[in-house]
Amino acid sequence: MGVDQPRIQAAVAEILAAIGEDPGRPGLETTPERVASAYAEFFSGLGTDPLEHLRDSVPVGERTGELVLLRDIEFRSVCEHHLLPFLGTAHLAYLPGDHIVGLGKLAAVVETIAARPQLQERLTEEIADTLEAGLAPRGILVVLDASHGCVTTRGPRQSRSSTVTMASRGELAQPVARSEIIALIGGSL
Ligand SMILES: [Zn+2]
Repeated sequence: MGVDQPRIQAAVAEILAAIGEDPGRPGLETTPERVASAYAEFFSGLGTDPLEHLRDSVPVGERTGELVLLRDIEFRSVCEHHLLPFLGTAHLAYLPGDHIVGLGKLAAVVETIAARPQLQERLTEEIADTLEAGLAPRGILVVLDASHGCVTTRGPRQSRSSTVTMASRGELAQPVARSEIIALIGGSL
């Protein structure tokens, strides 16, 4: 499906007029078009089921992995309160049940769910829910650390602040198991 770009272009021209600018002046002429194409990218996850990325999971067989942790997945989303970007890193850990999936697919899950108007809190939970539904692992821990445009550039203007959110399921909801993984994630967490 995709977003309605001509409609976004018209709306952006209207915003430019509303701030007292001339949408037709050189420099702004192609702005509505550029914003519309940026929005198409920001919101490309709408209408896509992130579970699709986990369709090709494979049985682990004899060699059951104790833990899978994919650290430092860069992501970009847009906050649904201000339509300003928030950027950060996601760390995904799971204790495999019967199935594992290619590591790139984990990053794809994050990317699809992030490409919608979002709240970091909900994004974190939706990633955990998708892993649960797609892989039925014994445990899940999702940690997101992001910097929000609406906090860094407006209002509180806390340019160095970041927000950490966490969602856990099953065996990784236990505090001891959780702190072991947080230690492995390392960095500033
Ligand atoms: Zn916001």
